[in-house]
Amino acid sequence: MCEFCTRHGEGRKWYENITNYTEEVFRRVNSEEGLRDFLAGLPHSLKHGVEMAGRWKARFPRIYRLIAYPLVTRRLRRVHFGQVVPVEDVEGILDNFSSVVRLPCVCRKVTTGREEMYCLGIGMDLTPVFKDLPDFSGFDRLSAGEARAMIRRLDAEGMVHTIWTFNTPFIGAVCNCDRDCMAYRFQVELGAGKAMWKGEYVAGIDPRRCSGCRECMDRCYFGALVYDGRDAKCRVDPMKCYGCGLCRTVCTSSAVSLHDRAGVPEAAREW
Ligand code: SF4
Ligand code: SF4
Ligand code: SF4
Repeated sequence: MCEFCTRHGEGRKWYENITNYTEEVFRRVNSEEGLRDFLAGLPHSLKHGVEMAGRWKARFPRIYRLIAYPLVTRRLRRVHFGQVVPVEDVEGILDNFSSVVRLPCVCRKVTTGREEMYCLGIGMDLTPVFKDLPDFSGFDRLSAGEARAMIRRLDAEGMVHTIWTFNTPFIGAVCNCDRDCMAYRFQVELGAGKAMWKGEYVAGIDPRRCSGCRECMDRCYFGALVYDGRDAKCRVDPMKCYGCGLCRTVCTSSAVSLHDRAGVPEAAREW
């Protein structure tokens, strides 16, 4: 289990600990005013902050790596941090709530200019905050069943599921992301800092079932799958795998399974 599980999980994965979604934890680490200010500034910081980090990293790579990367990462861990979560664990989270709030995706608004509803506000009711903010006020409500159907549909479409804090360890959102996600661009494409943990799992491929069709390679956003021409099979690079499970969803040969990260020695400390 990751460092957040150790500190905030009470013996479970930290996102399975329902306390982390409660008003009690929110009030311990945040406030409505604080959240309102953070969300009001989020589109600007996603657009300009990420661009600026990329420029600084390209200009001063050594200084960035030694000083800026750890500073930025430390701040994100405290303020707004995510983790990749496979579909069945998202369903486990949703089982705790009778309804959720569906929100516009602020990343895609920045990257594509489109207003699309990909985020779910879960747990504590934060709509009094969202309704005051133009980028978030277009929310609606889904029943737990509708939310589960949405998550399954997005999983089949190839969206990586992630959970997000609004001052850690308060978890307020489940997101559904692709390459238009600013956290993905910041962390995976630019390597400018860590905005989210890898998931608690690592994928493995059963070579006896793998047909070598390579559908999984097209689905993986993290470059964690390689095709081995010697036996015409795909393999997982455990060091690169985020444990999202999307390769498993797309594999019609049922060759992929997810394994507990702690049980995969190469990846056990690779978050
Ligand atoms: S984390 Fe994902 S779903 Fe959430 S705002 Fe960003 S791209 Fe959208
Ligand atoms: S999708 Fe499945 S069968 Fe096809 S290459 Fe990947 S693991 Fe093998
Ligand atoms: S190998 Fe599979 S589980 Fe791992 S990051 Fe790629 S798509 Fe996700």
